[in-house]
Amino acid sequence: MASTRFPSCTKTPIDEQIQKLYDRVKARDPEQKEFLQAFGEILWTLKPVFEKDPKYIKVLETIAEPERVITFRVPWIDDAGVQQVNRGYRVQFSSALGPYKGGLRLHPSVHLGIIKFLGFEQILKNSLTGLPLGGGKGGSDFDPKGKSDNEVMKFCQSFMTALYKHIGADVDVPAGDIGVGGREIGFLYGQYKRITGQFEGVLTGKHTRWGGSLIRSEATGYGAVYFAENWAADNSLPIKGARCLISGSGNVAQYTVEKLLHLGAIPLTLSDSSGYVLEPNGFTQDQLEKIMELKNVTRGRISDYCKMSSTAQFFAGKKPWEVKNCVLAFPSATQNEIDENDATQLAANGCRLVVEGANMPSSNEAIEVYKKKGVGFCPGKAANAGGVAVSGLEMSQNSSRTSWSREEVDARLKQIMKHIYTSCKNASEEYGVKGDIQSGANIAGFLKVADSVIDQGCV
Ligand code: GLU
Repeated sequence: MASTRFPSCTKTPIDEQIQKLYDRVKARDPEQKEFLQAFGEILWTLKPVFEKDPKYIKVLETIAEPERVITFRVPWIDDAGVQQVNRGYRVQFSSALGPYKGGLRLHPSVHLGIIKFLGFEQILKNSLTGLPLGGGKGGSDFDPKGKSDNEVMKFCQSFMTALYKHIGADVDVPAGDIGVGGREIGFLYGQYKRITGQFEGVLTGKHTRWGGSLIRSEATGYGAVYFAENWAADNSLPIKGARCLISGSGNVAQYTVEKLLHLGAIPLTLSDSSGYVLEPNGFTQDQLEKIMELKNVTRGRISDYCKMSSTAQFFAGKKPWEVKNCVLAFPSATQNEIDENDATQLAANGCRLVVEGANMPSSNEAIEVYKKKGVGFCPGKAANAGGVAVSGLEMSQNSSRTSWSREEVDARLKQIMKHIYTSCKNASEEYGVKGDIQSGANIAGFLKVADSVIDQGCV
């Protein structure tokens, strides 16, 4: 039954109300392309919710406006002694379910529209985990590529000097994202501690020596594969022996490959912005370890891997989606890396399931192609939620001053991914879009946040 508490709604048809809401949100920030893409994707899949109870249209409009947007100058001195400056951001999007939670991205493409798209997705993703986590995101247009350790440290210290007053273990808990891994979290944490004098769980993704959780590094990749396993079990798709395409070569891609190997699948590709490498018989664990060394320690390009393997081939300027006879695709690089043509190619090459390790790697046109061609689709906010879920577990361990074993954290991660899959599936059935995991994820994630916003007085 429709609740009469708080939000009221006009009596115009739902499609018209949805379009008007989109137009209002767009009119506020017409240049924020990626945010509008993420918002539009969620908005239209929520139509069955609005049809049942139109009050939720106004709640969505409230949620789409960040609670707070912080931007700041990040000055630092490079190794040549030259002064540099970048722009820093933290978008504290929603505290309906808990402290703001979400990563920091360091990449030259970062601007407010990117941080807002990531933050908006993060609200629903965090809701799906079932943990008490609000949504936020931050970062900077600083490019870590080619920078020395010392320059990265100088930048991180300056970034935290501006950010520290806005965050805290019960306020806002940043973590990593593209360009922010263990090294950066260490520099950021050390500076927070120097300024505040507090040793607290203010960041996640910390080293296990000083408060980090076991399995946090592995969590996003492992979680994406656990999610795929749940979908595959429901759709009679064997993972053992499945030929898999993975894009990206960072933390998510690396641990996706590792978990696929544990399950007897055949991970064939990895990539970066200059092209992709193909191991025609699939990467072995030994080869994966070489890649981890290359990417995480020597910080080289993925093409350098070909110097270490006589069988690998490098395809400059290409994406892995052109490889034939592949059943599973794990886009784990960045937003919009699969466009309409790539999706068409994937479907033609026999792909049965796309599992998003990255945030919004499929354009809305690509998603339409998956639907038309019957390719299963597990969206990032559900499939890659394992990372933030284990961040949530890291927060629990920090607050209770304890640390759990690998087995314990891994078992909890597995259970959370199963819970997310089941919530998406159940919501899709309840709202008349059975089997549509994308709509199910948006509906289940949204309803919990929306009802909490109403409970708290529509704030
Ligand atoms: N950046 C990751 C994500 O997109 C992890 C965020 C976190 O652990 O707070 O979900």
